[in-house]
Amino acid sequence: MEKIRMTTPLVEMDGDEMTRVLWKLIKDELLLPFVDLKTEYYDLGLEHRNETNDQVTADSAEATKKYGVAVKCATITPNAARMTEYDLKQMWKSPNGTIRAMLDGTVFRAPIIVKGVEPYVKNWTKPITIARHAYGDVYKATEMKIPAAGKAELVYTNEAGEEQRELIHEFDGAGIIQGMHNLEGSIESFARSCFNYALDTRQDLWFATKDTISKKYDHTFKDIFAEIFEKEYQEKFDAAGIEYFYTLIDDAVARVMRSEGGYIWACKNYDGDVMSDMVATAFGSLSMMTSVLVSPQGYFEYEAAHGTVQRHYYKYLKGEETSTNPIATIFAWTGALRKRGELDHLQELQEFADKLEKACIDTIENGEMTGDLYLISTLENKKKLNTEEFIRAIRNTLVSLL
Ligand code: NAP
Ligand code: MG
Repeated sequence: MEKIRMTTPLVEMDGDEMTRVLWKLIKDELLLPFVDLKTEYYDLGLEHRNETNDQVTADSAEATKKYGVAVKCATITPNAARMTEYDLKQMWKSPNGTIRAMLDGTVFRAPIIVKGVEPYVKNWTKPITIARHAYGDVYKATEMKIPAAGKAELVYTNEAGEEQRELIHEFDGAGIIQGMHNLEGSIESFARSCFNYALDTRQDLWFATKDTISKKYDHTFKDIFAEIFEKEYQEKFDAAGIEYFYTLIDDAVARVMRSEGGYIWACKNYDGDVMSDMVATAFGSLSMMTSVLVSPQGYFEYEAAHGTVQRHYYKYLKGEETSTNPIATIFAWTGALRKRGELDHLQELQEFADKLEKACIDTIENGEMTGDLYLISTLENKKKLNTEEFIRAIRNTLVSLL
């Protein structure tokens, strides 16, 4: 068989531990035999980040801006234990954080639905995609414990030194306060990323905040979304036959539970943090989630939502059998290949991505799966495979589809 052609390279960001093992297996078994794979390779494994003083992370983000599409393996975010384990020069920052800051994006996460792994909410028959704003609010807040009676105020001083004040509270005893912020520019990026992603995936977009109570803060989010939508997106949405609507967060939660899924739910930072864990759990498993960072300029970085599966990696190093689920990492590759195919008008490449995804789903629905799914699958005839066996089973299904 002739290999499927690519014209522009993907930015390939390799990573750590068990997901690095999966990365190579996926390339060797599922990609290289079928696709004339073109990538620009960046090794974001912790050892190489340490050797390059983390320059490689910044370089890979720059390359993403150049080429437009990246695929990223899970990476270790160092903590004290990793400092010793890898003899690090510094406690390097989270690569995801660095890349996100450079691309200024929004993270979209959606469950991969298969028969046998049933959502806990029985009417959820289509995926619900959470779009989480990844800047500011409580994640960049300043807090203070108020020890005793006194007055707390918000003070803003402009560059000319003029002050603007608002009373927070006249305390007559001990208490607590918190000051947080966001930026118009960041909220605008968030809005555009959400509108672009909705168009890209042809799904409705919901957005919700608590603007009835937060009349300036949350209301600004609501207003910015409304203004950008009217000016730049209304017509495109009409043409695509999709809808944008805003509602109160309480109403959104109630509607989400009653819905059948099939839309994007844009959330402020905190809401997105909490709701994405709820939605992911209710759909079944973190290893069955897609995750993509979309920048307002239209750069895409595809990744798995889970970490490097450290516990499995230590078993692997000891030569013990592992049963690690590669689906999220495979879908990072298929997402990136499909996007590359769309941008470069390569129909065959897009079809290959679709077929590889179908091969994954068919394999699991035929009862062949890794241990994590074996535990929760309701299929009667199910079989637990090890990591390598499962990837080979997907390859067999793929070959039959091609
Ligand atoms: P994790 O790698 O997501 O794994 C946590 C547990 O979830 C695993 O021990 C495993 O449970 C299960 N699991 C996750 N993915 C699985 C898969 N594909 N197949 C089967 N089981 C899976 O989280 P962690 O152990 O807390 O973090 C490990 C490292 O990952 C850390 O150094 C962290 O910095 C990094 N991390 C990276 C990213 C990223 O790059 N996107 C995200 C999160 C964390 P059992 O052991 O019970 O089987
Ligand atoms: Mg969380």
